[in-house]
Amino acid sequence: MQQQNTMNDQNLLQVTNLKMHFPIVKGGLLRRVIGHVRAVDGVNFFVRQGETLGLVGESGCGKTTTGRCILRVYDPTDGSILYRTASGEEVDIASLEEDALRPIRKDIRIIFQDPYASLNPRMNVLNIVGEPLRNNNIASGKELEDRVAGLLRRVGLRPEYLHRYPHAFSGGERQRIGIARALGVSPRLVVADEPVSALDVSVRAQVLNLLQDLQEEYQLTYLFVAHDLSVVRYLCNRVAVMYVGHIVELSKTHDLYEEPLHPYTEALMSAVPKPDPRLRSKRMILEGEVADPSNPPSGCYFHPRCRYARENCKHEMPELREVQPNRFVACHYAEQLSLRGVGGQARGDSASLQPV
Ligand code: SF4
Repeated sequence: MQQQNTMNDQNLLQVTNLKMHFPIVKGGLLRRVIGHVRAVDGVNFFVRQGETLGLVGESGCGKTTTGRCILRVYDPTDGSILYRTASGEEVDIASLEEDALRPIRKDIRIIFQDPYASLNPRMNVLNIVGEPLRNNNIASGKELEDRVAGLLRRVGLRPEYLHRYPHAFSGGERQRIGIARALGVSPRLVVADEPVSALDVSVRAQVLNLLQDLQEEYQLTYLFVAHDLSVVRYLCNRVAVMYVGHIVELSKTHDLYEEPLHPYTEALMSAVPKPDPRLRSKRMILEGEVADPSNPPSGCYFHPRCRYARENCKHEMPELREVQPNRFVACHYAEQLSLRGVGGQARGDSASLQPV
């Protein structure tokens, strides 16, 4: 994808060549850096105002680290994260000093994966949800209490719960408290880090519906980090697929699920559960291990597991490029492949490149 120093007017966020390399340090008194884990290794994508962009991939692919760089939990090793503020100014989150970051931290909030670990057990709901309001000088005293009560109502909890502690709530209710905490300071972008994966199946749909309703009501933009492809299909407008620190495909959700362009996406799609038995296709089992981000293979990182790999794939790393309008893929042979989507159907082009 072309690197740009300015954003398209529709974009709220633009991530360019983002890298997050963690040093591997050998112990002893003289601690030496003996290598780096390339958790995020040159990621490019953009998020449009008001959309939900899904970020998917296997555990350890770098999707959560990408989200945390955007939140500046981590200081990125390289790259830029352009963000358009409410006043229309473009700022680079990756390089802002802490003082300049403060108002941005109010704009970009996170909903955590684990509703049990993410709430302080020693704080009651009033303090948990009210803390960001107090820290940002938005409200205090009775006004703070009223605001927190209103937020609880909005996420489907009773305001009488204000003085209860997290242990008194179920997983779904705790996640609603986490959502209320994120919403309180009127964010513009919410990084939802696997927000329903730790919940019982029975309450997942309720929380997803709540997220959708809140998006409409507050004109929120979501970066939805997930590995559950059924959930992503339901909620996201576009999807970016990550593999070992890289984006390998970025497309509208429908296009990506029906006609994937990258062999890794094809394998992910074969694992999506299908309710209609007539649509059931054989699950594609990926051979080999996920590449080690501290010692990735040469060329295309996916080549040791790819059914379509050719000789040059072992030496040449493919760039993420636009192969169709608004469809980006990092594969040398994207135009020649005819891959199966979630319905198990390929485009059926007999001239297409066949598995090796
Ligand atoms: Fe497979 Fe080669 Fe495409 Fe990589 S570049 S996904 S190895 S065909």
